[in-house]
Amino acid sequence: MTDVVVGIDVGGTRIKSVLLTRSGDVLAEDTRPTPADASVRLGPALADIVTSLVERGGGESGGPSEARGPGEVREPGGPGEVRPARVGIGVPGIVDEQRQVGVRSANLGWHDLDLQRAFGEHLSLPFVVGHDVRCGLLAEARLGAAQGCTEVLFVPLGTGVAAAQLVGGRLWHGRPWAGEIGHVVVDPDGDPCACGLRGCLETVASAGAIGRRWSALTGRGGDAAEVARLVAAGDQQAISLWHNAIEALAAVISPVVAANGTQLVLVGGGLVRAGDLLLDPLREAVHARLAPAMRPAVAPASLGDRAGSLGAALLSLEAGGVA
Ligand SMILES: [Zn+2]
Repeated sequence: MTDVVVGIDVGGTRIKSVLLTRSGDVLAEDTRPTPADASVRLGPALADIVTSLVERGGGESGGPSEARGPGEVREPGGPGEVRPARVGIGVPGIVDEQRQVGVRSANLGWHDLDLQRAFGEHLSLPFVVGHDVRCGLLAEARLGAAQGCTEVLFVPLGTGVAAAQLVGGRLWHGRPWAGEIGHVVVDPDGDPCACGLRGCLETVASAGAIGRRWSALTGRGGDAAEVARLVAAGDQQAISLWHNAIEALAAVISPVVAANGTQLVLVGGGLVRAGDLLLDPLREAVHARLAPAMRPAVAPASLGDRAGSLGAALLSLEAGGVA
């Protein structure tokens, strides 16, 4: 019998999940749409995901352990060979991990939701809820591009901009809104932001904002990937927009690096698919703002959109004291 954990990454549109062994092997994966009215329907969906993953991973849903004598070790995968021990769940928005409360999520439409109560009615296994970006960093730190680093700033650039930090090799939690660098104002006369301010970093430098700004500027459709292609092709309007986004990112990232002694800025999210077109000028812009001794490495995350679910699984292992 192999003890496994389930890691679930709840996004605004998709739920990605993994069945993970304690040694970090993925036995099964699942992706499905996030249900509407998540504050009510997410709990049953999570229970269904756990059951489905355990069945596909070759296990029983929490049945008694089978006794095995010495030499009877088998590879996981056969019927009855795995048993889920815990579940980790990463959710977006503002998350109070200590109290296990979803303070706010615009995407999932909840406000001050007691997540242990909301999900506990449906899940029979012990579970822990974490912040999706902090889960992503935990996965990168244990299994991905931040292995061996203790002072890391993780910045996924997707529909929004957020951050998580590893300090002294441990996830930094701070207050529930720690990491909300997307809502630091970089242009007081800029576009309105969902948070009520104007010109937040997120309205300038997220993948979503780059696409929107390009459409507003040119009247042509196109997402951030299209803008990146035009930057590579030498389009001056695209280059200007791209440059503004990178300068805004550097202006917000650099003081965080200076304050914390960050050794690695790990860039993730959809925008990092632009590769060196993003990373080289971002590295230059961050380094230009910092004295030589303070300059961090700036590198891409390596786990892509699996980081959140892997990190949620790792969170459950670490919360259970069995990592
Ligand atoms: Zn904002």
